[in-house]
Amino acid sequence: MDAPVIVVGGGPVGLALALGLAHHGVRSIVLERTRAPRARPGAVALSARAIEVLRDWSAADALLSSGTYYSALTVYDAKRDRPLVTLDFMSLNDELERPGTLIAPQAEIEHVLRGLVLDHPLCDLRRGCTVAHVTQDSDGVTVHLERDGAPATLRAAYVAGCDGPESTVRSAVGIATRRSNYGVRAIVSDAIVADDDPFGPSARMLVDYPGLLLGVRFAPGTWRIAASLAREADLAAALEPAAIQARLDALFDRRVEVRTIWQDAFELSRTRAERFALGRVVLAGDAAHRASPIGGEGLNCGVADTANLAWKLAYALEGRGDPDALLESYDRERRQAIAENSDRTTDRVTRFAMELSARMRKLALRGALRMLRERGMQRKISRAFGLLSGRYTESALIDNRHPMAGARIDDVLLPNGTRLSRARGGRAALVAVGKVPLDGLRAIRVPLPLKRWVLRTPAVAIVRPDGVVAAIVERPTRERVATAWRRAFAGERLPD
Ligand SMILES: Cc1cc2nc3c(=O)[nH]c(=O)nc-3n(C[C@H](O)[C@H](O)[C@H](O)COP(=O)(O)OP(=O)(O)OC[C@H]3O[C@@H](n4cnc5c(N)ncnc54)[C@H](O)[C@@H]3O)c2cc1C
Repeated sequence: MDAPVIVVGGGPVGLALALGLAHHGVRSIVLERTRAPRARPGAVALSARAIEVLRDWSAADALLSSGTYYSALTVYDAKRDRPLVTLDFMSLNDELERPGTLIAPQAEIEHVLRGLVLDHPLCDLRRGCTVAHVTQDSDGVTVHLERDGAPATLRAAYVAGCDGPESTVRSAVGIATRRSNYGVRAIVSDAIVADDDPFGPSARMLVDYPGLLLGVRFAPGTWRIAASLAREADLAAALEPAAIQARLDALFDRRVEVRTIWQDAFELSRTRAERFALGRVVLAGDAAHRASPIGGEGLNCGVADTANLAWKLAYALEGRGDPDALLESYDRERRQAIAENSDRTTDRVTRFAMELSARMRKLALRGALRMLRERGMQRKISRAFGLLSGRYTESALIDNRHPMAGARIDDVLLPNGTRLSRARGGRAALVAVGKVPLDGLRAIRVPLPLKRWVLRTPAVAIVRPDGVVAAIVERPTRERVATAWRRAFAGERLPD
């Protein structure tokens, strides 16, 4: 074997996976076809969940320096310069160490992740390597590639296809995709706006526009602009400099001096692979699912894939649990999460932005504003935006009888002033809630009121390395916890 895991694709998701594997002590080779980083459009924000995952893998400090961290996001009404909607992430400060979102260009995020991968002794990033084909047998996977025009092969126990929407790995193993079209287009561009107020709004929206016109400031003077395009509209005319200028003037409500860095028209759609794992081959990121760039969560969901996958590959390689069951659970859990969270959010945002009339959108916005004044709703929307909500209920590794099982555990503050996630350090743990006898078990005690986690009696939660609760064991004994642990980790014995 050349490496336990070969990651195909050194985009953000492949790089994050390599860091996640390294956190669990697994060596990987990352094969990337480009020789040098390319400037290309992409995400402008990292969600709270992605930051939490990458913090466990020692990447958060470097990432936080690549952009601006916001603990609240306000969308301003372009016409009146008044707040339309504010999402105050501080409503989550009892369940997150650092509530907020990182606004940063994807190129910067990739630059930071690449640097960390290049510096890590367990990660081997090989650029200029184009994978042409993969074949698998019962012992491993053979990767056929071309480097400097010369063919080569490498062998690994597992291969992760993080090679983007046109995934070669996915095609090679014959995984089909399902695509849904929204039937509308959007023009997305990045523009440098002269004299934009450095302390000004983080996002602007023109409510009266006959579709969507939204700008997000993601770097000093630099804006991501998204404008919808009616079905019957002339695309070439919409891309004319005069049309671009008119949209930006409307968005800033004045004549602005603008330099467009890039722009593209997108046919809005989303695509999902029918399986995220097949034998020894797994898919993550855009290779597995691709969302519309409007309300898109592609990068953030890709990082969430890697959180779920990294420990499972590590456990499979170390013989700590049944490899087939571990990878099967990755497939089920992440497909469910994408269908229930990302696809649904993308649907809603795209439909709200593109398909409602200006009048209906105004009414919907007014309704949303009213709802957001309630703390409970702020919390709900902030959790969804941060990719903190959702629950895995269809996995054999999750004992879903309790409503907390399958969900991410809140990152609560412990009596010693440490957060629970810091105490776990990205590893599996037992968390004891209430005055529960531990029978010699090693657990982190959280003195929360039981009702916070819907518990009827003191209990022990089995928390996986990705922070997901696998089971709640009420009236725990060593034997009951050991049984639940075996299920959570596909046969692994409870550590002493
Ligand atoms: C305009 C736009 C706006 C977006 N906005 C957001 C947003 O706000 N939030 C968000 O979360 N996401 C957003 N996204 C989505 C986000 O950019 C993607 O989800 C993200 O890039 C996916 O990362 P990835 O690593 O899975 O795939 P990619 O970024 O596509 O990386 C795949 C890598 O694999 C390499 N590769 C491909 N084939 C091979 C091969 N055969 N051999 C070797 N290497 C190969 C490629 O060169 C590439 O480096 C947006 C996307 C666009 C286009």
